[in-house]
Amino acid sequence: MRREFTANVSHELKTPLHTIAGCAELLENGMVRPEDTARFYSQIRGEAGRMIALVEDIIRLSHLDEGAEGMKRECVDLYDLTAETVKLLSREAESAGVSVSIEGENAVVYGIPQLLESIIYNLTDNAIKYNRQGGTVKVSVEPLSDGVRLSVADTGIGIPPEHRERIFERFYRVDKSRSKELGGTGLGLSIVKHAARLHNAKIELQSTEGKGTTITVVFPEQK
Ligand code: ADP
Repeated sequence: MRREFTANVSHELKTPLHTIAGCAELLENGMVRPEDTARFYSQIRGEAGRMIALVEDIIRLSHLDEGAEGMKRECVDLYDLTAETVKLLSREAESAGVSVSIEGENAVVYGIPQLLESIIYNLTDNAIKYNRQGGTVKVSVEPLSDGVRLSVADTGIGIPPEHRERIFERFYRVDKSRSKELGGTGLGLSIVKHAARLHNAKIELQSTEGKGTTITVVFPEQK
């Protein structure tokens, strides 16, 4: 598995690097018309951004692979954390024409704040990315008698049944070009799965093609 991961990482990094090198070479040799230079610079920046996102996700995953060493558990109000995390995505939601709302009430989980944030961030980010213009995302936090339920529901493209098991695998994407166009790394849900496991939380997925997807994470009661 480790060997396969290394091969995938190398491949994913090679593509943007080739684009950057190619653009830079053309600019260096004066082979770009002045009216086109802005487009080349912005492509270089975009590809570099993609590499940064990828490297950050890889660092996060390898930290998780090592058992999230050094990360402290504490009481975290999932509702407050959701409100803060959703704010970070407001610009993205706005430019995608998607409105995001939060429902529910305060509910405390004893866990690792950075990982809980990663779960909320990645699920909400996907719900915005794989949505449609004018669509909605509802993030809800509900205390249960024996735990806390977090769910992220979108009105997006949905996930065909044959892909549902596999989207939690590293680098697995239903539509590779759409994911890349939207700046996806293909690692978000594997981070969610790993982080949920470290909290003994269960993930459930419901999806209807063309209608939307709801991903629910149930955190057990902490004793
Ligand atoms: P990515 O960076 O590609 O979004 P993820 O690991 O977060 O990687 O998700 C893996 C794949 O699962 C995505 O490429 C997409 O095809 C699919 N996916 C994830 N969330 C959703 C969603 N809410 N609606 C539709 N498809 C989704």
